[in-house]
Amino acid sequence: MSRPRIGVLALQGAFREHIAALERLGADAIPVRSPEEIAGLDGVVLPGGESTTMDKLLRRFQLQVPLRDSLREGLPALATCAGVILLAEEVRDGLPDQETLGILPIAVRRNAYGRQPESFEDGLELDFLDAPFPGVFIRAPVVESGVETMEVHGVVDGRPVAMSHGNVLALTFHPELSGDDRVHEFFLERHVGAAAATPRRQASR
Ligand code: GLN
Repeated sequence: MSRPRIGVLALQGAFREHIAALERLGADAIPVRSPEEIAGLDGVVLPGGESTTMDKLLRRFQLQVPLRDSLREGLPALATCAGVILLAEEVRDGLPDQETLGILPIAVRRNAYGRQPESFEDGLELDFLDAPFPGVFIRAPVVESGVETMEVHGVVDGRPVAMSHGNVLALTFHPELSGDDRVHEFFLERHVGAAAATPRRQASR
């Protein structure tokens, strides 16, 4: 694929930084705000921000169902922080009416690091990179169950912070805020590249 089309969910949160990173890597990055914009994508980014707000906007803009269907059909996804919450089957410490897309068989706890708003992990070791990555964590969630179903790429203090599951790359940190594009590059090469090499599965409905 010479120039993959990657949608970036642009309802709220750090979507501009993801668009910039993807463009630097030669992808065509498309802000997604309506159901029609999901068709024809080679991948999608679910950014960090506020999962409760993003959930409400996904429903209001009628994106929840088409996005879920496309992800089930195998659309590659890079989910960061709040994006991981949107994909989890179960959210703990969410709002009573908070919904998710239920793509990843995990339970996540929101704001699991307590009051600490932001932290940096300069030496984040990720198994797909030869040198450490600058990790930016902002009110990050923690995966509390279902980790055994995931391929874990990196751990901080015994907690997984980077994981793959099928077509999804899930990160509890913000690679788009570090100015280092190696994680986006890995997503394009491995997740988007693998999907391009195999025909899309049909969703079972
Ligand atoms: N705490 C936020 C939430 O629950 C996630 C934070 C982030 O995406 N940086 O949605």
